[in-house]
Amino acid sequence: MLNLVIFGAPGSGKGTQSEILENKLGIVHVSTGDMLRKEISEHTQLGVLADSYMKHGKLVPDEVVVDMLEKFIDEHDKAKGIAFDGFPRTLHQGEALDKMLAKHNQKIGIVISLEVEDSVLIERMIARGAQSGRSDDNRQTIENRLKVYYSQTEPLKDFYEKQGKLVRIKGHNSIEEIASTIENEIQKHLKK
Ligand code: AMP
Repeated sequence: MLNLVIFGAPGSGKGTQSEILENKLGIVHVSTGDMLRKEISEHTQLGVLADSYMKHGKLVPDEVVVDMLEKFIDEHDKAKGIAFDGFPRTLHQGEALDKMLAKHNQKIGIVISLEVEDSVLIERMIARGAQSGRSDDNRQTIENRLKVYYSQTEPLKDFYEKQGKLVRIKGHNSIEEIASTIENEIQKHLKK
């Protein structure tokens, strides 16, 4: 089983690359952002709660997201692997993920960090917002999301680097070039 985290700031291309991996490797892609947006569109209690954080670019509380992911992992314990996109986003979530996987004798094998500078991230998210109408892809919320990323999420790089799992990849090239670099890194990891 191959479990991996696709890591990076908002707008770094995590969703796009996770979908490519899902198709190429036959693993399952899970995006906590997509799960939360679905809850919002269905007006569930969880969706109403999540929306009150997401519209300000803040993180939804750890326990809410961890519970949601725990159910997902339990339901997919026969999968070939899982690509985690947008999770973990805090050290607490990183530790919780290890525990949830350990319950199934699983672990994270590799963490792909997509490295893109802020000016490019901002441009990409504004362009995405114009196309998709995603409500948190507006300038004010984008700035908050980046602040939250640097203060709460980026420390996870250290967490994974210390475990020898972090692979940094420049996220500026074309989608195809990045996908092929990721695939090479995964092949190297599988040969270890
Ligand atoms: P994303 O689609 O991954 O950019 O996530 C959009 C928004 O959903 C984030 O700005 C957060 O408000 C919320 N969100 C997604 N994943 C998480 C997570 N793992 N922990 C907390 N909040 C999250």
